[in-house]
Amino acid sequence: MEEQQFEEEVRKLMEEQLAKNAKAKAQVKKETPVDVQLIQELYQDCFALPKIELHAHIGGCLRPETFMELAMNKGVDIDHIDFYNVDIKGAFDIFKAVSQVLTDLSTLARVVKEVVADYAKQNCVYLELRSTPKIFPGSTSLKDYVDLVLTSIKQAEEEHDSKIRVRYIISINRFAPAEQAMQIATLALEYASDPYVVGVELSGDPRCGNFNDFIPALKLAKEGGLKISLHCSEMPEQAKETPAMFEFGPDRLGHCIFMTTEEIKETAAREIPVELCVSSNVATTQCGVPALLPHLHEFYSLNHNLVICCDDTMLFGTNISLEMFEFAKAVKATTQDLKSLLLRNAEKAIFAKDDETREWVKQQVAKFPVRGVSTASDGTLVQECEAVVVTE
Ligand SMILES: [Zn+2]
Repeated sequence: MEEQQFEEEVRKLMEEQLAKNAKAKAQVKKETPVDVQLIQELYQDCFALPKIELHAHIGGCLRPETFMELAMNKGVDIDHIDFYNVDIKGAFDIFKAVSQVLTDLSTLARVVKEVVADYAKQNCVYLELRSTPKIFPGSTSLKDYVDLVLTSIKQAEEEHDSKIRVRYIISINRFAPAEQAMQIATLALEYASDPYVVGVELSGDPRCGNFNDFIPALKLAKEGGLKISLHCSEMPEQAKETPAMFEFGPDRLGHCIFMTTEEIKETAAREIPVELCVSSNVATTQCGVPALLPHLHEFYSLNHNLVICCDDTMLFGTNISLEMFEFAKAVKATTQDLKSLLLRNAEKAIFAKDDETREWVKQQVAKFPVRGVSTASDGTLVQECEAVVVTE
């Protein structure tokens, strides 16, 4: 599609969304001043809460210093990248540069371990990482990539005394031809009984490819027992694929920014958990602040099973605690609300295959003591009298 036409479509959709949002804002009751201490406590709670991350691309979650070091060592030019204004085009410029620096298995092992360490530092207790297997120079098959990711994940879990459980979702890139998707789905099936490989997902540049072309590969993985997550309605051009995605029957959807109100209701009716990547969605829509993301409010008002995720920590200069805090501020959620959401995520969104892990994740969240921040009926934050008593 011509760039001009593409930009025009995005502009039109953004205008529609902002109009929708302005209407919603007009219905919001009069705001009262926010208690700074309560906001500080909410921030601390967002850090301390045992969290769940289900939408993290390995290639987008490099430590910035690692990325710079690798780019310098490998002579990859990154001067053209504007890290302070990452939109969808900028995001794919960065992914291209990452593919030029992440070119061998030992670097991949280092990156996976660093990503896990960074999530553990933010009190994330359950993490599903995703990436597309590649054949690096010196390796002979895609299997080498998957095996290396799994080994690195297991080593990282041990290094953190199993205080974080990590699983792998094998990615299909919609930029690549459908034959490659089939190759990856076939590979994923080899791991169908491996507790560490929990699913297959479709991602990549939403402006490329056609969902229908990937259905046979996704169906193969699904029929083989793997869970499926789809990047959905991330860009205006992709929005038309949503009905076909519903028909396919995914286990989770990511983003869902440009869904219509009816589609949001259908997602809720079908009880498909949504991976909501707050900063990423703000960058995609260029709406400035999370509170202006209309889909966020629509899903939250339906009490939907939203999973707060980062997408790409490096691209959006974020971490899982910060995403949780931004989400809480945008929808005026309390610590108790976040805890309830995380318990629901643990119950009905994570792809972990074994009951022991699912139960363990639930327990980690359940035992978090809420100190009592709440939202009054008029939307303001108030102090609650009762604290939740938690037993081991
Ligand atoms: Zn993503």
